[in-house]
Amino acid sequence: MNDRLPPALTTSPFLPFALPDIGEEEIAEVVACLRSGWVTTGPKTRQFEADFAAYLGGDVEAVSLNSATAGLHLALEALGIGPGDEVIVPTMTFTATAEVVRYLGATPVLADVDANTLNLTAAAVEAAITHRTRAIIPVHYAGFPCDMDAILTLAKAHGLRVIEDAAHAFPSLYKSRLVGTLGSDATVFSFYANKTMTTGEGGMVVTRNPEIAARIRMMRIHGIRQDAFSRYTATTPSWFYEVVAAGFKYNLTDIAAAIGVQQLRKIDAFLARRQQLAATYARALRDLPLQLPADAVAGSGNRHAWHLYVVRLRPDAGISRDALIGRLCEQGIGTSVHFIPLHRHPVWRSTCQRANAEFPAAEAAFAAMLSLPLYTKMSDTDQQRVITALNNAFAGNVT
Ligand SMILES: *Cc1c(COP(=O)(O)O)cnc(C)c1O
Repeated sequence: MNDRLPPALTTSPFLPFALPDIGEEEIAEVVACLRSGWVTTGPKTRQFEADFAAYLGGDVEAVSLNSATAGLHLALEALGIGPGDEVIVPTMTFTATAEVVRYLGATPVLADVDANTLNLTAAAVEAAITHRTRAIIPVHYAGFPCDMDAILTLAKAHGLRVIEDAAHAFPSLYKSRLVGTLGSDATVFSFYANKTMTTGEGGMVVTRNPEIAARIRMMRIHGIRQDAFSRYTATTPSWFYEVVAAGFKYNLTDIAAAIGVQQLRKIDAFLARRQQLAATYARALRDLPLQLPADAVAGSGNRHAWHLYVVRLRPDAGISRDALIGRLCEQGIGTSVHFIPLHRHPVWRSTCQRANAEFPAAEAAFAAMLSLPLYTKMSDTDQQRVITALNNAFAGNVT
């Protein structure tokens, strides 16, 4: 696998935390797009959306955007979220999950997560509900599905809308069903560079609600009723268009969609490799003082997408998280932390005014967690280096 890395990386002893897996197929598709004369939203984007919907079983609509953040924003917009409304989000997530609530003048309300899966729990959501609550954004943390039955039941009982942040969760299964088909109002996937598949930057909103899909299609391109490609390809004079809402500029380009079309064809192979790497870590790390990530229980029908492999130091580890990251870095191993909980960031600290002690599970996890490299371009030898470096770090024999 290493022979496919760029030269600068093959000669570097440093193993990066993440790398995209772009092959000749993606390159050829992008070149064909560039030669076609149509580079912005057009036929490739439509194909990518159709292929993505088909992957999820065909009874959903898939609407592409230039990021998952844009998708979360427009999904909330389509639900009519606005000033005075509250939206419950987990504190253990990336800032995008909360910032989109602010785009609409509404208030994100942070909730703690399950101590094992680090997913939002129905109990934490219930405790955060007020008379202003309008929606919930569960995040399928690292690619492990939230307990959506519990969350959807609670949402229904309180008349709340649900948008799944599935930035990590393609293709995760919940009770044998693909995330994206679970019956929430909308599910949002990310194709950022380090996600389980990439378009460089990009996102997809998936919904079974045709009104939500239509609203997002319009709002992603300035609130114009008809898109540029339909006007361009029309055989009758088609200069006329109407702007019916103050929209946004969130459309995916055909150049990016060309990458996506080819990445999607590889997603099952990517998943198989991620599963293999996760299984190897689980075997090789079990005697170290680490809490390994929650995995699907056999027979549950759940499936982890393994976007992230997050380990936590056990209290008896005898080394801090920061020191461990330092010792791995000294040995040329890149790691990361997912996530610094939102309640610790200055902007959300001042907006939400919540004490760290209100989020005991996220706090305990954050203090102990680090994400190990897990991506399809890693070779078995690369992974062995990570395992050896971890063993060295705990043995204290790092030179
Ligand atoms: C990456 C990520 C996003 C944002 O995705 P973009 O495509 O970069 O906008 C949102 N939520 C979570 C949990 C993420 O990890």
